[in-house]
Amino acid sequence: MTANNRQVLLASRPRDQVSEDNFRIVETPIAQPGDGEVLVRNEWLSLDPYMRGRMNDVKSYVPPVQLGAVMVGQTVGEVVQSRDAAFRPGDKVLTSLGWQLYGVAKARDLARIDATRAPASTYLGPLGMPGITAWFGLHEIGQPKPGDTVVVSAASGAVGSVVGQLAKISGCRAVGIAGGSAKCRYVVEDLGFDACVDYKAGSLEHDLSESCPDGIDVNFENVGGELLDTVLRLMNPHSRVVLCGLIAEYCATEPYRYKSLRAILVKRIKMQGMIVFDWKDRYGEALQQLVALFAAGKLKYRESIVEGIDNAPRGLIGLLKGENFGKQLVRLA
Ligand code: NDP
Repeated sequence: MTANNRQVLLASRPRDQVSEDNFRIVETPIAQPGDGEVLVRNEWLSLDPYMRGRMNDVKSYVPPVQLGAVMVGQTVGEVVQSRDAAFRPGDKVLTSLGWQLYGVAKARDLARIDATRAPASTYLGPLGMPGITAWFGLHEIGQPKPGDTVVVSAASGAVGSVVGQLAKISGCRAVGIAGGSAKCRYVVEDLGFDACVDYKAGSLEHDLSESCPDGIDVNFENVGGELLDTVLRLMNPHSRVVLCGLIAEYCATEPYRYKSLRAILVKRIKMQGMIVFDWKDRYGEALQQLVALFAAGKLKYRESIVEGIDNAPRGLIGLLKGENFGKQLVRLA
């Protein structure tokens, strides 16, 4: 065990793009667990688009990170010291200890993971929050039927990659939207989507309509802005939009002005926002299905890994620019 903990704190709030100056890295003594608590050595830190929102001092569905506080984030790690009967040193656990090498958590806030069934990092990706988001968003809001065309943006990413694979399993035509030919090739050849459109090629509406000859029945929206505006124009009457994320707007100083809202009216499109926490009581249900698909080789995934806690800011900055290719993680140990 190293003598000290290493933490990344929020030093200042970004106006638009995140920069390394927004963070401060400090060494602190390793905290000791009290009764009912556990000391965990973090092995993996998940970097997620929502972290950009937590850096703003605005009211949202969860409070912002305070200046000088450790950045929030889900982690997977190993118990090194336990003062709770439910956990022992060596146990692998999923929790939310944030951007630091060690952390103390209440035992009730830990979930044991089975790292013999799937690599520990996958509990932050296809078998974790992103996979669960895909599961409930697609099934509960998208309600795909066999034969439907399901479109998903950020298709090579943590959530999008699972959405498309689940859509295929439901008997749908899965069409991705992704940035660049390498990501699009991966989405079709490795993930098994029927098609993937490169929005950076400059002909999104044309290419998407060619890939969706029967129109779009379900749009799983991860990006927003121009992409969503274009997809709305190609949607079928009585189709559904799962409004999961608007990453194209997270660093913008001005909101995007949508031009296709009329399509929602005239085509009676149902659009619903989602926050994965809404299904907190049912996570186990999704997880059981995702683990079974994973074990059967039906859930492919890819990871983008930055090494070491000091590189976590660089990892988040890259994620918010679309530089990641697959689930963005920081390897801590
Ligand atoms: P990803 O792994 O998909 O990474 C983000 C991707 O977004 C990038 O790789 C990039 O892919 C794409 N992107 C498109 N446009 C932009 C842009 N203007 N700037 C930056 N990136 C862009 O992330 P996740 O799968 O973790 O998250 C996907 C979305 O789902 C996000 O919007 C996130 O906030 C949301 N989300 C919502 C949840 C909820 O409960 N509502 C829970 C989890 C995630 P490309 O190069 O292909 O464009």
